[in-house]
Amino acid sequence: MLDPTRERDVAFASGRCYAEIDIGRIEKNFRIYKNSLQKDFRIIAVVKADGYGHGGVQVARCLEQLGVNDFAVATVEEGIALRRSGISGEILVLGYTSPVDAEAACVYGLTQTVVDEAHAIELSAVVGKKLKAQYAVDTGMRRIGLDGSCPELCERTIRRGAELFRLNGIFTHLSCADGVGEKNKHITDRQIERFAAVARRVEDLSLPYVHCLNSAGGLYYSDLPRGIGKFVRLGIALYGLAPSVDTVLPKGIEPALSWYAAVSSVRAVKKGEGVGYGSAFIAKRDCLIATLTVGYADGYSRAASGRAYVLINGFRAPIVGNVCMDQMMVDVTLLPHVRAGDRAVLIGRSGEEAITADLLGNITGTIGYEVVCGISPRVARKYI
Ligand SMILES: *Cc1c(COP(=O)(O)O)cnc(C)c1O
Repeated sequence: MLDPTRERDVAFASGRCYAEIDIGRIEKNFRIYKNSLQKDFRIIAVVKADGYGHGGVQVARCLEQLGVNDFAVATVEEGIALRRSGISGEILVLGYTSPVDAEAACVYGLTQTVVDEAHAIELSAVVGKKLKAQYAVDTGMRRIGLDGSCPELCERTIRRGAELFRLNGIFTHLSCADGVGEKNKHITDRQIERFAAVARRVEDLSLPYVHCLNSAGGLYYSDLPRGIGKFVRLGIALYGLAPSVDTVLPKGIEPALSWYAAVSSVRAVKKGEGVGYGSAFIAKRDCLIATLTVGYADGYSRAASGRAYVLINGFRAPIVGNVCMDQMMVDVTLLPHVRAGDRAVLIGRSGEEAITADLLGNITGTIGYEVVCGISPRVARKYI
């Protein structure tokens, strides 16, 4: 007899809606990307937002086995999750941390980004010199960091930082490295030049982490001026997605995540009848409608209503009507014998067809990053 009070006794295969993550694929993507760089480059693996929805702990463990010692997350909580799972390398928290969480960052040996001088003072008041820290430098992103247009001031603040914290680095973030054309190149070159100017002023501090490149930066701007360390903060390309529609990933890099739901039922809908909330879809002819076990509460965007499609048995089935919270309907009139229990591919391959997160993002007016980050925690992750 199954005992429902003992979790492991209950066989639960999450057939409703699940994401399948090919960890070997992430490993391959890492190798291919790294081989596209000069030999002495090091990778800081960006595993924020639960590894872009792929499972931060699982991805970090896999990369640690490949010799990666440097990780980046967005929040202290994400850093703590890595530590608790046994990740022992450097973990940089890329975003702002409130002083109330600074002690936790210390206890777990995380390296905290300092976003400006006021933040430095707040943080150091709480934790003294115990906190490992890196200063962000704003070279044009206009998001966080010391004002990189004033290298003298940056230098002074960073030197003070070396007294307030266990300072081990500085970094900047590129805003246009994934764009094509002269304008983007000009902006990026200027950002890198500004950062190098700051880095050279504090060269005597011998900070081990001086870095500026994201996935796109590593592809197009790895020929760095003197003073900047050879690092790539590798995020999206690790997961096999492109930084933008203009970016071409090295050959062989492929998406690591597939996303599936099930057909729960199939029904005939007569010409003129409506489907779903608001009857947003009206059948133009007699048709067959399949209901799927996924909705916007699973992270499948409602913006896909009436626009995107899924794959069933290798064929495209267009979404009809509005995506509901937990279910949605697709038109399977032209598909051969779709039945309850069939698997629908939301992202991934089926026969000759494929839907990528980048494509789904395109259709719904966003980017692949948001699509994979948006797959909600109630969607089970399976690792293959
Ligand atoms: C998310 C992030 C990255 C990774 O960017 P990708 O485009 O995913 O490679 C790098 N640096 C910072 C500061 C980030 O916030």
